[in-house]
Amino acid sequence: MKRWIVGIDVGGTKIAASLGTIRGLLVAKRVLSSRGGAQSTEVIGELCETVRRLLNERKLKPQHILGVGLAVAGAIDTEKGVILKSPNLKRWERIPLKKILSRSLHMPVFIENDANAAAVGEHCFGSGRGVDHFLYVTVSTGIGSGIIANGVLVRGTSGTAGELGHITVVPGGNKCQCGKQGCLEAYASGTAIASAVKRALRKGAKSRYFNKIRLNRITGKDVTLGALRGDRLAVRVRETAADYLGIGLANVVNLLNPRCIILGGGVVEKVDHFWHPMLKALKREAWPMALARCRITRSKLGSRVGDLGALAVVLSACRNSFE
Ligand SMILES: [Zn+2]
Repeated sequence: MKRWIVGIDVGGTKIAASLGTIRGLLVAKRVLSSRGGAQSTEVIGELCETVRRLLNERKLKPQHILGVGLAVAGAIDTEKGVILKSPNLKRWERIPLKKILSRSLHMPVFIENDANAAAVGEHCFGSGRGVDHFLYVTVSTGIGSGIIANGVLVRGTSGTAGELGHITVVPGGNKCQCGKQGCLEAYASGTAIASAVKRALRKGAKSRYFNKIRLNRITGKDVTLGALRGDRLAVRVRETAADYLGIGLANVVNLLNPRCIILGGGVVEKVDHFWHPMLKALKREAWPMALARCRITRSKLGSRVGDLGALAVVLSACRNSFE
């Protein structure tokens, strides 16, 4: 029986290939540098070799594998298995990845957007187990999200559903990397938080903590660490970002009436200076009847969400064979 799955998490700086069981137990993992600028054929060849090695180590054959799941940042045509647009892998765009990989590996291949894969991962193995209506949100350098409604991933008409990071929170506001202005991502992501600190410092805001870091080197992570050490500027900027995130989540609560919202990513630590203002804004903006039944929680999967999400893509696609 096919009890094994290969999950491939294609990130900005690395590609991780994992071998796991259908119950979500990760047993082996190999990491390749993703080399965003490299020719896709070269990287795909290396990826196939890595998958074969993962199987060989366990003496597994393609017939033991339920499928290979890929979680990739960007717009994906999941049916055709083509990356339409990816911020990390510009040379991979329009490449029929599913076809190439399945021919080379002799296994079924499924490709999904990374935030959607993470939502499916939470549904199969994490905080979303047994929950049929929820939103998974990851807040790190950007903001991604995936919607599970009636137990199924919502992709929308052309696969772009769940782009919470690009709902407008300030019309005509800060420029977003997507080309629009005023997106939630331009106010509440780690990148936006770092930019807000830099803007404040340029305007003369005082901070002993940030004095030690070169202005153009400040990252969202630095701001989190600064806030945890009590730096007032860091706390204030993160509180403002948390308020915007709360507004974004309130819109989702009003629109979808989810049973829970699962938050992941480095920005959304469950620390008072972030969590409280986020919940406060959520309570202020959401419809009380919708919010009353909605649980706000941190992801249980943590840093494993990328690997487990990629595994879950296969389980979700093959669900019918289990029912
Ligand atoms: Zn945007």
